[in-house]
This record gives sequence, structure tokens and C-alpha cells, in this order.
Amino acid sequence: MFSTEFLDLPPLTGAGGSVQLPGSKSISNRVLLLAALSQGTTEVHDLLASDDTRVMLDALRQLGCTVDEAADGPVRITGLGGSAPRSPARLFMGNAGTAMRPLTAALALLGGEFELSGVPRMHERPIGDLVDALRQLGCQIDYLGNDGYPPLRIAHAAGLPVLELAEPIRVRGDVSSQFLTALLMALPLVAERDVVIEVVGELISRPYIHITLELLARFGIAVRHDDWQRFTIPAGSRYQSPGSIHVEADASSASYFIALGAIAANPEGEKGIRVLGVGLDSIQGDIRFVDAARAMGAHIEGGPNWLHIQRGAWPLKAIDLDCNHIPDAAMTLAVMALYAEGTTVLRNIASWRVKETDRLAAMAAELRKLGAQVEEGADYLCITPPASRADWRAARIHTYDDHRVAMCFSLAAFNPAGLPVRIEDPKCVAKTFPDYFETLFAVARADAAQVPVICIDGPTASGKGTVASAVARRLGYHFLDSGALYRVTALAAQRAGLAIEPASEAHIAALARKLPVRFEGGQIWLGSDDVSDAIRTEEAGMNASRVSALPTVRQALIALQHGFRRLPGLVADGRDMGTVIFPTAPLKVFLTASAECRAERRYKQLISKGISANIFDLRADLEARDARDQSRTVAPLKPAQDALLLESSALTETEAVAQVLDWWQERRPFG
Ligand code: C5P
Repeated sequence: MFSTEFLDLPPLTGAGGSVQLPGSKSISNRVLLLAALSQGTTEVHDLLASDDTRVMLDALRQLGCTVDEAADGPVRITGLGGSAPRSPARLFMGNAGTAMRPLTAALALLGGEFELSGVPRMHERPIGDLVDALRQLGCQIDYLGNDGYPPLRIAHAAGLPVLELAEPIRVRGDVSSQFLTALLMALPLVAERDVVIEVVGELISRPYIHITLELLARFGIAVRHDDWQRFTIPAGSRYQSPGSIHVEADASSASYFIALGAIAANPEGEKGIRVLGVGLDSIQGDIRFVDAARAMGAHIEGGPNWLHIQRGAWPLKAIDLDCNHIPDAAMTLAVMALYAEGTTVLRNIASWRVKETDRLAAMAAELRKLGAQVEEGADYLCITPPASRADWRAARIHTYDDHRVAMCFSLAAFNPAGLPVRIEDPKCVAKTFPDYFETLFAVARADAAQVPVICIDGPTASGKGTVASAVARRLGYHFLDSGALYRVTALAAQRAGLAIEPASEAHIAALARKLPVRFEGGQIWLGSDDVSDAIRTEEAGMNASRVSALPTVRQALIALQHGFRRLPGLVADGRDMGTVIFPTAPLKVFLTASAECRAERRYKQLISKGISANIFDLRADLEARDARDQSRTVAPLKPAQDALLLESSALTETEAVAQVLDWWQERRPFG
């Protein structure tokens, strides 16, 4: 997951390959609650691991359910099966509407004392219609903040509420279908007689109710309905665990990759995008996004658990569509509209206003930043793409703590102007798809020359390694420690019994060409050996220095180093990064510090590791090494011609990092 302040996407040109999608949020949280209300233990396979499911799992534990989370296997939940939830309890629901609404209903009917709250945005998301319906039944619910909004208190200290179930329960269906879903999942708990729910007003997002009914059936509850307006839960309904259940991949998440296939050109030898985990027979309404994408020009095939998408019509075709049946996935259409000929109209999307953010306003504002013309209506959006290549703008996309805004705008990186796109707060995707950007980068292609590289070099003990890796972390870029490559090469040569001297040059170069080195989670691996410590000794440094003076070995490591230039970008640390390996890098920094200062830093470093040292010897060593490195013929120590000098003697590491990041910002087109 990218936890950076922002993530800059380089201009993307193509895409190809397979993606396995995470489980559906809507299905995951429904299944968790149903399992928690059931008799018996349910094994939930392919559960989505995300903020919203975390909130639900934590709440269920607090309420007394046994939740068993194995590292890679299914989650096992033993339900309450008729016993009372643990009370009193204070439950934190984050920004998870799919946890807040159904838990409110279930707990109100089960009785006890509960407080349910969330993040500030959750306290702006309406729940009044659900509370009204529950109060009608006789439940005691109070607002702790503003009327009609969380936080809430449910209080039945004196035992179970006496419920009035003889009359149909009336609930509004035109604000959020989650109110109806909440009642449908809660009322089977008290269905000693037929319980009838009547929807007042037009039912929006009907496909989500379809998911609810499908899942209720899996847990033993057969709800009847008359034309989606009147729902009957039969007398004697009782939750029973199905034993084991699989969560389908999220059809809304699939929309980004369906759109990707529709927008991106095929890289040579590859045919489109294959999406695994969800297919055309999905129970999720958002799968109908497929029809909308087809209407815009995509070629899509599919089977029971897969989809295959290829670019068809190009540019895409503008559409005019009622999106009531695909409210979440329709946001993706709004970004696809940027690549369509003409004006796309998305209608009947008023529900966007009460989601994670006011999505109608958010989409309009961010699309305009890219250069599109947008008309924002009360319940519709008209989008006309930038008139020409020159009308596109490099935009900083604000994401409003809304996962779907972040994900759908990543597709703007295919703009014909070749502009990068900045996604602010990229970690907000964790709500439903923590590895969204990694998954995108695994299938998306960019011209290597467009993938940014920042080169950082400097004399020994200048702090370049520390600064370079910190800059990489702040930008979410890959990090190449080229010195480590020479260290690993020297170690591999030694292990192969080769003397590190010019006579072995050809053999060492042959080794270097196929060096099985991997950088993973802070560790460095040579084949299956963790060599992180072995390459950091003084001797390993000396050997690296000797190996690095062999021209054929340097040559042999070039392709390996180029391979680090991957999406979304690279920070490369080492001698010839800016001169030989990435000569066109848009930012090169040469970090220096006085010999005195560097000796002091090295001294502190050694002492902190418990290694005794003499500061005068260290300084003499440094100066000797500087002289040798500057005068050597192969890759001498000298700044690239276009490098910016950063004299860091008087700077802390944080200040040096901030300076490099400032220089980088100046070179970005975001203003
Ligand atoms: O930076 P580090 O101390 O790990 O580098 C080990 C050795 O490899 C140094 O002696 C340095 O001169 C050499 N080197 C190089 N070219 C690079 C990186 C390191 O010659 N790009």
C-alpha cells in the first residue's frame, strides 16, 4: 500500500496481463454480520482485507463473537446464535456505511446498551430514515450529535424491546438502499410471525438489495418480495450458518480494470486485460458496468469467474445512461468519458451525494482540473473531454478520503498529452483495495523515459544512502542502492571461489550478468540467502570497491540497474547513476559534507553499533578514499554536470531530504 502524501503517476501508454481482484466489500461485510447472527461456525473464504471489514470484525469481537483470523486462510466466525450480544459496548465504525447501518438495526432489535460512532464524515452520512423505521417498531435509539446522523445510542437497559411487528414496517428507499438492507438482515432475528417491510418512494440501488437477498438465502432466510416494494420475511425464519462461504471479487473494483482494458493500447504480444475472481454471472449489480463499457466501445468476454477486456472503438463512444443500477462503478464511466468523442451524460446518480464524500461535486471538480468541461446537475453529470491535446492539464487530484475517487482518476494517466497525474492521499484506497496501485502498476506500461528517476551521489559517509532511501519512501518510488549491487557481486565472486582481481574480470562479469539478487522488505537476498549483513562489513566494502573498478563488471550490471526504473518511479543512489546509468534523469543531486563532518557521522554510526572507532583515523581514511575515488579512471567520484550540489554539513537528515523533495517539486508540472 502507498502511505505517501501523494502518488505521482507517470503518463501511461498501455496495459496487458492478469489481475486477481480482492473480495467485494458489500458481500464481505454482509457475510460477516450474517455469520455473526447465525447459529454455528462459518468459514469465510476470500474475505476482503480492508478498513471497512476491519471495523466490522473488531465490532463483532467486541459483541462477543469468536473471530479466528488465520494468516492466509479463511476467517472463522462463530455466531451469537440467539444469545445476547455483549453489552454495554462502544463501537467505532470508521467510515464504513456497510457496518454502521446493519449493525444499528441488528443491535436495536437484539437489545442492550450500545454507542455507535465513526469518523467525522460518517457523522455527516444520513441514518435518520433507518432510525425512524426502528423507532416505529419500538426500538429506543437516541442521536448523540445531530438529529438524523450518527453517533447514536441504543439503550434497552431493561431487557429486550417490545416490538410492534403486526403492521408493515415502512422505510424510505430513495436515500440509501443500505437502510432496507439493514432491516432485511436484522428482522429475521425477531420473525416469530411474518414480518413485512414496505418501501416508501423509489428504491434506489436495487442491485444491492439483490445481493442482500442472495446472501440471506445462503444463511437460511428466504425473503419474498413483490416487485421490490414489499418484502416478507416468513414466520419462523432462523439464521443458520452455511458452514463455508466464498466472497466474490468486487465488481466495482473490476470496473477500473475493465476501463483500463477499454482505454489502454495492447503492449506487443499481449491481448488485453484478464480479470480473475468475478465473472458475468456475478450476484453484484455493478457487474452491469460491463454493458456500459461495451456501449462505450470495449470488447469484453467473460465466464463464471473471469472477464477479458480489450480496446475496441477508439476514441471511446460517448453515452447517455441512467446509472441507478451501477452507482459505484458509474464513477469509472465519468473518467472513461475523458477518452470519448462527444459529451457523456450520467443520470440518476443523486445517491453519490451521500457516499464517502459528495461524489457528484468531487467528480465534477476533479474532472475540470484535468481540462474537461463538466456540468454538475442535482442528480446528473455531463462530461465533455478536453477539446485537444493542448487542453489537458497536469492535475493534482484531491481524493476526499474516497477510495473510488482515487482509483478511477488513476485512469487519467492515459491522457494523450502525456502528462503525469498526482493522486493525493493514495492510501484512501485501503477502504476496499489496499493494493490497488501495485495491481495497476503490474499490468500498466509506460515509456521507460517517462518513468522519473532521481539520482543521488556523493562521497562516502555523506549520508546519500539514507537521504536517497528517505526520498524514495516519501514519493513511493523504488530505491536502487547501486553500491549494494557491487557488494553483492563481490560476495558472489568470493563464494564462487574467484579472486577479486583483473585476471578474473571476465568470470566475475559473467556472474554479474546473471546475479540472482533481490531487494525485499529491507533485506537483500542472493539466491535464497539473506546477505543483508554479510555485505555490510568493511571487507565487503573493500571488495566492492575493487570489483567496481573492473569495466566489464560495470558493463554487466547496467541492464540489471536499468530494470529498477519501474512504475511509479526510482531513486537511484551511487557513483555513476546520473552520468552513465540514467544520464537523462530529471533530477541529480550531489550530496557533500566536510571531511570533518562525515568522519563524525561515521564515528557516531559505528559507536551506536557498539563498534569502537577513532575519529582521527576515520577522517584520514575518508580523505584517502576520496582521493582514490576522485582520481580513478573508471567511474570516478565527481558530480554529474547537471547535478545540484547539496552541502549537508550544517543540515539534519530531515532538512537534506526536504531540500531534495523541494527541488523535485520545482521540476514537476503541478504548480
Ligand atoms: O556505496 P557503497 O559503499 O555500498 O559502495 C561500495 C563500493 O562500490 C564503493 O567503493 C563504490 O566506489 C562502488 N560503487 C561504484 N559505483 C556505484 C556504486 C558503488 O563504483 N554506482
